[in-house]
Amino acid sequence: MIKSLASFVKLVNKNNVFLEQVRYASQALPQLSSEKYNIHRKDFGRIESSDVDYFRSVLGQDRVLTEESDVLPYNVDWIKNCRGQSKAVLKPKSTEEVSTILKYCNERKLAVCPQGGNTGLVGGSVPVFDEIVISFSLMNKIIDLDDLSGALVCEAGCVLENLDNYVRERGLIMPLDLGAKGTCHIGGNASTNAGGLRLLRYGNLHGSILGVEAVKADGTVIDCLRSLKKDNTGYHLKHLFIGSEGTLGLVTKVAIHCPVLPKSVNLGFFGVKNFENVLKLYKSAKSKLGEILSAFEMADFDSINFTAKNLKLPNPISDYPFYVLVETHGSEETHDGEKLTRFLTNEMESGLILDGTVTSEPAKMQTIWNLRESIAAAGLVGGYVFKYDVSIPLKNYYDLVPILKKRLGDKATKVFGYGHVGDGNIHINVTVPQYTKEVSSMLEPFIFEEVSKLNGSISAEHGIGFRKPKYIHYSKDQSALGLMKDLKQLMDPNGILNPYKVLPDHI
Ligand SMILES: Cc1cc2nc3c(=O)[nH]c(=O)nc-3n(C[C@H](O)[C@H](O)[C@H](O)COP(=O)(O)OP(=O)(O)OC[C@H]3O[C@@H](n4cnc5c(N)ncnc54)[C@H](O)[C@@H]3O)c2cc1C
Repeated sequence: MIKSLASFVKLVNKNNVFLEQVRYASQALPQLSSEKYNIHRKDFGRIESSDVDYFRSVLGQDRVLTEESDVLPYNVDWIKNCRGQSKAVLKPKSTEEVSTILKYCNERKLAVCPQGGNTGLVGGSVPVFDEIVISFSLMNKIIDLDDLSGALVCEAGCVLENLDNYVRERGLIMPLDLGAKGTCHIGGNASTNAGGLRLLRYGNLHGSILGVEAVKADGTVIDCLRSLKKDNTGYHLKHLFIGSEGTLGLVTKVAIHCPVLPKSVNLGFFGVKNFENVLKLYKSAKSKLGEILSAFEMADFDSINFTAKNLKLPNPISDYPFYVLVETHGSEETHDGEKLTRFLTNEMESGLILDGTVTSEPAKMQTIWNLRESIAAAGLVGGYVFKYDVSIPLKNYYDLVPILKKRLGDKATKVFGYGHVGDGNIHINVTVPQYTKEVSSMLEPFIFEEVSKLNGSISAEHGIGFRKPKYIHYSKDQSALGLMKDLKQLMDPNGILNPYKVLPDHI
């Protein structure tokens, strides 16, 4: 019986400097998800030695993991909240292999859990019971790059950072960027419709993904892998697979549009008095920086202070109630730098910015992005963190942080908020010494009810996964849920694809 697990994940910051961080806050394993959340196993087949023999005949000995210690990392999620009980991990290398495996699993009614980089934050990437993990880590080939149109075609298991490095050498960038880019896969990004730091400028993946190849539960390969910008030939089926978290099909290849690598990148980091001024600053940035604005992020004092302390990272300016990070992507260094510096000077005069720094030096930009991108991991150090990822109309964007502070009192070590203001998306983290049902029940469904009252979304970018199906109705109407159920029935009648995720049991 394995009692502990030490595993490390390499996270990469925006400027390609690796941050090796402890993946799990302590050595203890999380409780089994099925027990923690009182879930009952559905009526799926159970994997037998004859099944393992079959998988080995398709994939070979090495690409079928069954040793408990080999399988364990695939059973535990990044945040160390969920733990499944899978007995087998399969590592296909081609679409044909994925198709063969799924056809077999469907006939045997064996449930599967697709897994990319396992950086998902809602428990969708790990099994709940004994679902077979299908890992995409060996499907990592770049197939084609058209550097004129910017269309990149690659396999689902390509790590986002590797793709970014590859296209950068050819004068392009990936249209998305996130703190987990050193580990997450493009197939995982597509399946979660990941947002991240560049969404304000380059839009979401429903726009930049040009085509998808996916495998249905019965093994049928759906080829929507076009790399055209315009293709109005019937239903836009690729969208079914973008953001459906592995419940409608397994994404095997992606075609994605890569924008041109900006010739000039500038970054400003500002101290701000209150949240009202953060919003005023956002309005001003949109109007004064216009076409070059690529990110507008905010973090409150506790987010930055907690991260700087826990991960021993430098904060380039002193302490302020709120921090704002403004990035520009443009084509003319002098013009862009002057524009951002003028913005800083003007807004210091207006009082919206109390202090700040503007830089285009890669090392300095890297220090600032490091601090921002590490907030997600900082909460894991020395305790447990309840994470919420919600969209809220901007005027109420920060309301929930003081509400939760009041509600939880000294039951929480910290409650802090940070996120993508430009997208109306705030991440709320509640840190506690350890997970308790008491704090959990003070937070849920309360937080989702509040989000719903504010006309927000209970999941802005992380998805529904395992953690939120029973709360999905706070953001999705019954008619929409009914259609989701019909689609699931059509695409996966035996329900073998990522069960217990996304769809609530009773619709
Ligand atoms: C430090 C940190 C920062 C993050 N920042 C952001 C952020 O800014 N924005 C954001 O949106 N997310 C963010 N995330 C969450 C996470 O990184 C994203 O959801 C990411 O897209 C997940 O990719 P992955 O390859 O790790 O997928 P996994 O975690 O392995 O899987 C995620 C979901 O997709 C399914 N899946 C994976 N691969 C496939 C496939 N090929 N076919 C079908 N289904 C599949 C899984 O079953 C699961 O339901 C962050 C996470 C961390 C740890």
